[in-house]
Amino acid sequence: MPGPGLMVLVDTVMSSTDLPQVVPYPEDGRSRVRLDAVRNLFKSKFGRDPEIFVRVPGRVNLIGEHVDYCGYSVCPMAIEQDIVFAAASVPSDGPFLKLVNSQPQAYPDITIPNKKYDISLKRDGWAAYVLCGVKGVEGTMKDRPLVNMEIAVSGRVPPGSGLSSSSALVCASLLTTAHINNISFTKYEMADLSASCERFIGLEGGGMDQAIAFLASKGCAKHIEFNPLKTTDVKLPENAVFVIGHSLVTKKKAETSEYNTRVVECRLASQIIAKKSGIPWRSIRKVVDIQNDLSVTLHELMALIKQHLRTGTYSKSEICEILEVTEDELGQISLSQNTLNIQKFVLRERVTHVVSEAHRVASWLKETTIDGLGALMTASHNSMARDYDASDPACDRYEVIL
Ligand code: ADP
Ligand code: MG
Repeated sequence: MPGPGLMVLVDTVMSSTDLPQVVPYPEDGRSRVRLDAVRNLFKSKFGRDPEIFVRVPGRVNLIGEHVDYCGYSVCPMAIEQDIVFAAASVPSDGPFLKLVNSQPQAYPDITIPNKKYDISLKRDGWAAYVLCGVKGVEGTMKDRPLVNMEIAVSGRVPPGSGLSSSSALVCASLLTTAHINNISFTKYEMADLSASCERFIGLEGGGMDQAIAFLASKGCAKHIEFNPLKTTDVKLPENAVFVIGHSLVTKKKAETSEYNTRVVECRLASQIIAKKSGIPWRSIRKVVDIQNDLSVTLHELMALIKQHLRTGTYSKSEICEILEVTEDELGQISLSQNTLNIQKFVLRERVTHVVSEAHRVASWLKETTIDGLGALMTASHNSMARDYDASDPACDRYEVIL
């Protein structure tokens, strides 16, 4: 094997500089063992050494669950489980993209023959996430086509488990494609770009996962604000260790419609509050938009939720009546592709969770003690289970124990 220093490892967590850090191939240690395994996979499939490695971490969100797509800030941190790409350009007319994975049974090898591809999760499975990152870079290239690539992937972020394996994959793909094509983006640019390109998969994500993937730094969590994207270090209590338990229940976000249903329920609730408050409602996309347009505090917003929305389900026709639109118009203004056929929406409970969770993030930032965080996490979980219906009995059996 060639010695250290022959290849670059582009790592997103190791530096606090604007650009992702390029570090030499490690000489020894755990990191070396991990990279050697991906390197061997690459060599066995493609018959040569990769040119670069890219490493992107998964993340855990400490507080601020399901509020990023509503415009509210969150507080995640990177975890050591990561996704690693080993990649090289192919200077020939061969296929555009060859992808192999260290878990071929779960994620079979796939070849994307040419540069005219569409993104189809149904057809391409895991490769669709890689194509999101590729397409994100492609959209920024005006005068030249992307080069062909061969990529070996090894992931250690448990998938569908709330630790954001999908975004680690999309971000690693974006970073790899950019680096191989000699394009330099800052970490902030890549966080924004990858948040929008993961949406090619059809999920209306908010941007937290991609932001922390690129902007995490060692030893602290990050307070992430959106629009514009801004991150601030959150010093964790001394000697705190976070243990993540896995309920063994998984959820594939893009293959089911519940995630987007929550996004749309929050949007519809916000649009109804705006309409009933007498302000233009069609431009409202997120809960934070009504707060800004009405200049109200979170506390006042909660009062408006109680005033204008009732508990329980709303039918689609009832929502159309309130907003004075046809079902087709509602589809165009408020819904997403995979929520067009949903007939029943829960509104008040959903935004009650969002506003109370935004408040919990603010409370944690005021006083970052471990006891305080424990109480807030328990309240967050209860709100997710009760009002947001985004938990599972297997998760509800646990409480935050200090
Ligand atoms: P989460 O992001 O919470 O882990 P998602 O449902 O958003 O869950 O994304 C999970 C999907 O990401 C998987 O179904 C798979 O397509 C892709 N994925 C995750 N890890 C890997 C991996 N190691 N290799 C290939 N694809 C992966
Ligand atoms: Mg995901």
